[in-house]
Amino acid sequence: MDFFRLLLLAASMHEDIEKVLIAEEVIEKRLDVIAERVHADFASEEALQVVAILKGALVFMADLLRRVPLRLEIECLNVASYHGGTESSGQVDFLDQKLPDVKGRCVLLIDDILDTGRTLEAVSAKLLQMGAREVKTCVLLTKDKVRAAEVEADYSAFEIADEFVVGYGLDYDGKYRNLPYVGVLNPAVIKS
Ligand code: 5GP
Ligand code: MG
Repeated sequence: MDFFRLLLLAASMHEDIEKVLIAEEVIEKRLDVIAERVHADFASEEALQVVAILKGALVFMADLLRRVPLRLEIECLNVASYHGGTESSGQVDFLDQKLPDVKGRCVLLIDDILDTGRTLEAVSAKLLQMGAREVKTCVLLTKDKVRAAEVEADYSAFEIADEFVVGYGLDYDGKYRNLPYVGVLNPAVIKS
């Protein structure tokens, strides 16, 4: 690596990362596979409605859905469960004034990560309660752990250990969502 590039790295968010867990190229290859499955599974669906959970699912959704050539529609939901820390608060808040109309629709619900399972459980239940015909769930990451809510995603790109990760949409204190890979933060960066 040349000196100039080293200097740029040292002055950027990359220096806050202790290790890269899933590299950009690995994510891209895996998205091809997941997109192919989604395409095949919903090919006969005339009105596939995608609902993505903000803000964590933004990057994953954008990269995944551009690989799925269906005439789907996209809505986003603002949901909070973390409130700035590195542990789930256990409460899922719907922050939007108006929720998308999913009555009679087949919904593909996209989130960044399946952790305690409370978010996917609460949002799936809400969408069904609002009249969705069917809800399938899709996440970039699934944490290997015992969940508070008994849910598993229908589509999951990667399984990871139970540790706090950032990047590719996932944040710490609002930052690091634009890292092109999934990584683990340097402990010194985390506020005590
Ligand atoms: P759950 O409701 O399954 O516990 O958590 C879902 C939400 O918690 C995710 O959408 C994500 O916003 C947040 N979350 C869970 N684990 C992590 C993690 O390791 N890193 C980050 N940045 N967010 C996480
Ligand atoms: Mg989230």
